[in-house]
Amino acid sequence: MSNSVSTEGVRAGRLAAQTYANNFSDLHASLDAHEASVAADRCYFCHDAPCQTACPTDIDIPQFIREISTGAIGSAALTIFSQNILGGMCARVCPTETLCEEVCVREIAEGKPVEIGRLQRFATDAMMEKATQPFSRAADTGKKIAVVGAGPAGLSAAHRLAVNGHSVTIYEGRKKSGGLNEYGIASYKTVENFAQREVDWLLSIGGITVKHGQNLGAEITIKSLQRDNDAVFLAIGLAGVNALGIPGEDQPIVSDAVDFIEELRQSKDLSQMPIGRHVVVIGGGMTAVDAAVQAKLLGAQSVTMLYRRGKDRMSASLYEQDLATSKGVQLVFNAQPVSVGAESMEFAFTQDVDGKLTTTGETFTLHADQVFKAIGQTMIGAPDGLEITHGKIGVNEHGATSVTGIWAGGDCASGGDDLTVTAVAEGRDAAENIHLFLSGGA
Ligand SMILES: Cc1cc2nc3c(=O)[nH]c(=O)nc-3n(C[C@H](O)[C@H](O)[C@H](O)COP(=O)(O)OP(=O)(O)OC[C@H]3O[C@@H](n4cnc5c(N)ncnc54)[C@H](O)[C@@H]3O)c2cc1C
Ligand code: SF4
Repeated sequence: MSNSVSTEGVRAGRLAAQTYANNFSDLHASLDAHEASVAADRCYFCHDAPCQTACPTDIDIPQFIREISTGAIGSAALTIFSQNILGGMCARVCPTETLCEEVCVREIAEGKPVEIGRLQRFATDAMMEKATQPFSRAADTGKKIAVVGAGPAGLSAAHRLAVNGHSVTIYEGRKKSGGLNEYGIASYKTVENFAQREVDWLLSIGGITVKHGQNLGAEITIKSLQRDNDAVFLAIGLAGVNALGIPGEDQPIVSDAVDFIEELRQSKDLSQMPIGRHVVVIGGGMTAVDAAVQAKLLGAQSVTMLYRRGKDRMSASLYEQDLATSKGVQLVFNAQPVSVGAESMEFAFTQDVDGKLTTTGETFTLHADQVFKAIGQTMIGAPDGLEITHGKIGVNEHGATSVTGIWAGGDCASGGDDLTVTAVAEGRDAAENIHLFLSGGA
């Protein structure tokens, strides 16, 4: 779906060519060897390291930092990739400020954590640039596994299954692999086609076939997958978006933030991306921040991001909020959408009373050429017969669904945060459980 509405206030080419390149360059430059060594030397190599406990993929962080500090960069990368095969992407996109770096003892003591994310990127980039991948396949087990969805959860599961000697076919609806790494993550977090380079690197393990244009429920069905395979892993993410449910939502100025971001991520020439002069973004999460920041970087004159609750309730981290304001996005809290007009939007102020959100009776109107909705995504397309828990496929701690032989992980599965790193962890763990099951151990 395209968001390229054509009201007068929306047009492409607002900026000089070079400005697009500057605006969408790497958010954080890579560390060089000296910087990495200095950053690694700040680590206390804690026993029972809290940073490792906070990492959803349980990377041995003190170990890989020690390896960097002794110059063993290849070993550091191996320590990371053994736990998280998408450690390169996670080094770029993980909200480390709410995970490993938040609990780093140097953050708690001095307000400045060890730069774990940037050190991880230093080590993983070094290996991905120079070496073929460090893993090889076990002897062929003769077992076949179907993975649906080539996002972080599906790719992580496929790799671990291939390492264990199984033959994997990934069925992916879209033209490219990567899931939201390719179509969703903000451009400035993953530059220079990193998502596709990482997929190619991961697939070089062998034993994994990716079939694009294969949608569950259309070209393939759960029955056909069960018939032709020994196990099935579902990693279909959250393909639906929540509606505002207010009058005027169908006005042409309104579109989904994820569609806007997808169009931007796939654009070969950002000067062709239409953007409003006055942009309004509704939501308080990472998607809202990404849409707002990128709208500003495309040259919107004003971008206002409105969230219906207070600042402390936003799911975007303080770091993300600061990033937005540093790029010129205006954040407005306690403002709930009321209606959309042809070129405006009305809001009501809200307040939290005993945990219940109520409107204060005051309203205000914003001029808007373009409105992006980012109020959450929903799962669609789960096969019939699976237990659904809080709108997601219900799974146990191993990723097993209510149907024997079918596992699920990532955003589409119950439990865990909707983060890249969590999807990787769930894919990996489900793969290990499938392996155990196929080996007769579960
Ligand atoms: C705009 C945006 C920005 C984000 N930024 C960050 C960030 O900075 N850091 C972070 O940690 N997390 C971020 N996230 C969350 C993160 O991207 C997800 O948690 C992660 O991608 C989930 O991985 P997944 O494999 O479960 O799903 P996805 O990445 O969504 O992959 C699912 C795959 O399944 C395919 N698929 C779907 N339905 C079918 C079907 N019926 N048949 C076949 N294939 C199908 C899809 O095409 C897709 O390739 C962001 C999310 C969004 C929307
Ligand atoms: S908590 Fe901080 S100092 Fe301790 S091991 Fe982890 S990164 Fe190093």
